[in-house]
Amino acid sequence: MKVRQIGAVAAASVLALALAACGDSAKDGGSGGGGGGGFKIGIKFDQPGLGLKKGSDYTGLDVDVAKYVAKELGHSEKDITWVQAPSAQRETLISTGQVNMVVATYSITDARKEKVSFAGPYFIAGQDLLVRADDSSITGPDSLTGKKLCSVTGSTSAQKVKAKYPGVQLQEFGTYSECVAALVSKGVDALTTDNTILAGYAAQDQYKGKLKVVGKTFSEERYGIGIKKGDTATCEKINAALKKMIDSGDWQKAVDDNLGPAGFKVDTALNPPKQDACS
Ligand code: GLU
Repeated sequence: MKVRQIGAVAAASVLALALAACGDSAKDGGSGGGGGGGFKIGIKFDQPGLGLKKGSDYTGLDVDVAKYVAKELGHSEKDITWVQAPSAQRETLISTGQVNMVVATYSITDARKEKVSFAGPYFIAGQDLLVRADDSSITGPDSLTGKKLCSVTGSTSAQKVKAKYPGVQLQEFGTYSECVAALVSKGVDALTTDNTILAGYAAQDQYKGKLKVVGKTFSEERYGIGIKKGDTATCEKINAALKKMIDSGDWQKAVDDNLGPAGFKVDTALNPPKQDACS
C-alpha cells in the first residue's frame, strides 16, 4: 500500500512536469521566430555607421532602417531583440528562424537567394579598399598582387577577390573589425569590403589619420533585408515600408545622421534605390 502510494505521487509529479514542459513548448512555438518572444533582427555589432553595439546601445543606418521597418510591421522598438549576424551566418540565422530578418550590410545576390528571400534594396554601396594612410603603393584592386589582403568569410568582398584577383594573398576573418586590427598592426596590407563600412572605420577616433579609403569602387553592393525564403507577403510589406521611409525624408535623415559623421559621399546616381519586385 505504502509503495503504491509513493508510486502514485511519483506518477503525479511526472505528469505535472510533463504538463509544464508542454506549456513551455506551446509558448515557444507561438512566439514566431526562435523562441523567447520578441521580434529578432540580425545586425552587425562592429561596423560604425551601419550596425554598432556599444553597451546596450545599437546605432547605424542598418539599425535605423530596421527600426523603421519593424514599426511598419507592427513591432515597437522595445519589442526588438538585436542579434549579432556575422557575414557567414546570415543565411543560417534566417533559415533556422533564429532571427525574423537580417539588416546587416547584406548584399542581394543570386547565390543567397537560393536560401533566403530579400526585400529592398534600401542602399547601394560599392566594394573598396582600406589601407594605412602612409601607403601609396595600393591604388586599386589591380595593385594588390603579392600584397596581403584581409576580408571576411562568407562576404561578397572575399568572394570577388578570390574570383577576380587570384594573385592576392587573402586572409579571411569572421568580422571586419578583426581585419582593421590586423591592418593597423601590419599583419595585412589592406582590407576590402563595402566603402560604407571602410569609411566608418577610417573615421573612428582610435584610427583617425592612420587609415585611408582608396576610393575606387569595383562592385555594386545592393543592401537588402533578408527574410525566410518564399515569404513574399512580408517582402511586400517591407518594400512598402522602405518606400515610405524614402518618400518621407526619413531615409535621407538616417543616411545623413549615420554616414555623414564619417564624411561618406553617397553615390546619388544609385541612391536612394528603387526596391526590386518580390518573388
Ligand atoms: N555587402 C557585402 C556582403 O553582404 C559585404 C559586407 C558584409 O560582409 O556584410 O557580403
